[in-house]
Amino acid sequence: MATIDSKIPEGPLAEKWTNYKAHQKLVNPANKRRLDIIVVGTGLAGGSAAATLGELGFNVLNFCIQDSPRRAHSIAAQGGINAAKNYQNDGDSVYRLFYDTIKGGDYRAREANVYRLAEVSNNIIDQCVAQGVPFAREYGGQLANRSFGGAQVSRTFYAKGQTGQQLLLGAYAALNRQVKKGTVKQYTRYEMLDLVIIDGRARGIIARNLVTGEIERFAAHAVVIATGGYGNVYFLSTNAMASNGSVAVQCYHKGAYFANPAYAQIHPTCIPVHGEFQSKLTLMSESLRNDGRIWVPKKKEDAAAIRAGKLKPTDIKEEDRDYYLERRYPAFGNLVPRDVASRAAKERCDAGYGVSPSGYAVYLDFKESIERLGKQAIQGLDHHEIEKLGGEAAAIQKKGKEAVASRYGNLFQMYEKIVDQNPYETPMMIYPASHYTMGGIWVDYELMTSIPGLFAIGEANFSDHGANRLGASALMQGLADGYFVLPYTIQNYLSDQIQVPRFSTDLPEFVEAEKAVKARIARLMNIKGKRSVDSIHKELGHIMVEYVGMGRNKAGLETALKKIDEVKKEFYTNVRIPGEANTLNVELEKALRVEDFLEIGKLMALDALNREESCGGHFREEYQTEDGEAKRDDEHFMYVSCWKYQGEDKKPELLKEELKYEAIKVQQRNYKK
Ligand SMILES: Cc1cc2nc3c(=O)[nH]c(=O)nc-3n(C[C@H](O)[C@H](O)[C@H](O)COP(=O)(O)OP(=O)(O)OC[C@H]3O[C@@H](n4cnc5c(N)ncnc54)[C@H](O)[C@@H]3O)c2cc1C
Repeated sequence: MATIDSKIPEGPLAEKWTNYKAHQKLVNPANKRRLDIIVVGTGLAGGSAAATLGELGFNVLNFCIQDSPRRAHSIAAQGGINAAKNYQNDGDSVYRLFYDTIKGGDYRAREANVYRLAEVSNNIIDQCVAQGVPFAREYGGQLANRSFGGAQVSRTFYAKGQTGQQLLLGAYAALNRQVKKGTVKQYTRYEMLDLVIIDGRARGIIARNLVTGEIERFAAHAVVIATGGYGNVYFLSTNAMASNGSVAVQCYHKGAYFANPAYAQIHPTCIPVHGEFQSKLTLMSESLRNDGRIWVPKKKEDAAAIRAGKLKPTDIKEEDRDYYLERRYPAFGNLVPRDVASRAAKERCDAGYGVSPSGYAVYLDFKESIERLGKQAIQGLDHHEIEKLGGEAAAIQKKGKEAVASRYGNLFQMYEKIVDQNPYETPMMIYPASHYTMGGIWVDYELMTSIPGLFAIGEANFSDHGANRLGASALMQGLADGYFVLPYTIQNYLSDQIQVPRFSTDLPEFVEAEKAVKARIARLMNIKGKRSVDSIHKELGHIMVEYVGMGRNKAGLETALKKIDEVKKEFYTNVRIPGEANTLNVELEKALRVEDFLEIGKLMALDALNREESCGGHFREEYQTEDGEAKRDDEHFMYVSCWKYQGEDKKPELLKEELKYEAIKVQQRNYKK
């Protein structure tokens, strides 16, 4: 069996990164100019990496599907970004952020990577503030923080409900500076379709110009993948419509390991599905759990009456409400991690307490917060001012709603637009939905994949979140990778490449790769069947939700594998892609991505079947504690599953990266006390 070298530096945990930086090889400024780096992706990971590598003096080629780097999926991030600044003086530290992240990931992440992440988290905030990112501030000017799940401190920095957008504008400004300087060349509306390998090293990509349909070749000394996650495998998800897992599959086919594909995150607070013709789900940020309380009726008959439209949530008396997270997890309450909150919502709905017409929704209620914040706000008002507001009760309501609006106004507005209910007056309805994928391309400590010269950063890699990601940690990881980790580690690789001249794209490896891409496209175009790409994607999504979703079991996973094969067959015999390949063709773009989702779906089911334990977001129903919590099997499964491609329709080989915990005591996760 191949051994997996994660290249974790020697030394005590807290000194590994410092030691690495002190001893790694660097590339001198004159040589940087002679080295080309392809960065695929312009989200927070790719954008920050391209800008930083350009600033260092490398020659960067930066690709994205959208018409502007600013439209990457990262722009959708709402709630915030974590850092261990301890501005609140509430007990935070680098170690605590590290500990919470490892524990949140259910002891399935690599210690050394997570410690480094916590360490550089504070640099990210400084960098972004220097760029002008308008983080929320306290009265005295200090940056404000709020709480997110899985933590007992407030360490989440935010810009209202638009943190991703503001951070991306910061990275985009930094990127544009490099475009102007000529160190970064931007390729928008390009989609990578294959990786080119020369003598065992990543040396370029094949990409389709999405406007002209032309297939083009690009060469470089190293390739960085920052293409985001594969959550759209479920069809309905909170991800952007163009988010996909295709580059991960391309790299996997060329020898990069696909790590922990089964680890997918189902986010507890999304607007529930409301119909068969829906193509997108909307997230209600986790930040809402700071002030919103989650409940369902205590009595099944009340839940049934609500579903039938005979009772309203506001008719249910306080004593008849079951705040089930506060009941089950007194220490963390509504701020338990996402996997725990999602499973608890499903459990209540499966048990018959769901509140939407479909029975698959729970309430997120702000009534108590509005009163609490309203009472605080009127303390400074005199009698006349309170009278002007209509008396004490009316003043509390008015001021309380204003306080809630100042924190979450845009999210409330979005909810009202979609659901046509006013969440200040009646509780929101929420239900878990596919949101994030912890699995992805395997990388070592240097963020290099198992292919020399191929790096993966941000959500596209598997690195830091184990079996469950904590809220506000994806932005932290993407920017840590792009601004502070990759720009160092890639030099350790490139320092050996300074003698290597630029590559010609006429080399046979490029010719072959282009031929293969064209053949793949021709194969799909020639199917000329009857079904739309979306209808097949939706069918796959149903299978994934049913059998590879929040709850999994052996029989279901075996069924999933069989059913995905059937959908695959249907795809290859009956999909219809209208239009031509050599021009703009959105259906062709979708078909290529769905073809890859079919492969990812199978990998997820296979990985989930192999992992005979429950951990984080991977919940095997056969492996649970008496009170329904995830039950790990550390003796047999304390490893990263690394799947190695063996050829079309062949079972991939499973390699294992053993996880060792030296600084942390591994224990059963407990959010109750
Ligand atoms: C609604 C929502 C809210 C969220 N809120 C938060 C939050 O508050 N805090 C937090 O920490 N995390 C949050 N997340 C998660 C976080 O937004 C993502 O994990 C993160 O933004 C991913 O960044 P990325 O740079 O890795 O990838 P992305 O932002 O997904 O960027 C991918 C890039 O790759 C490009 N690309 C993809 N495929 C190709 C291809 N084949 N060829 C060329 N280019 C390609 C795309 O064009 C894009 O530029 C949220 C996620 C969602 C869905």
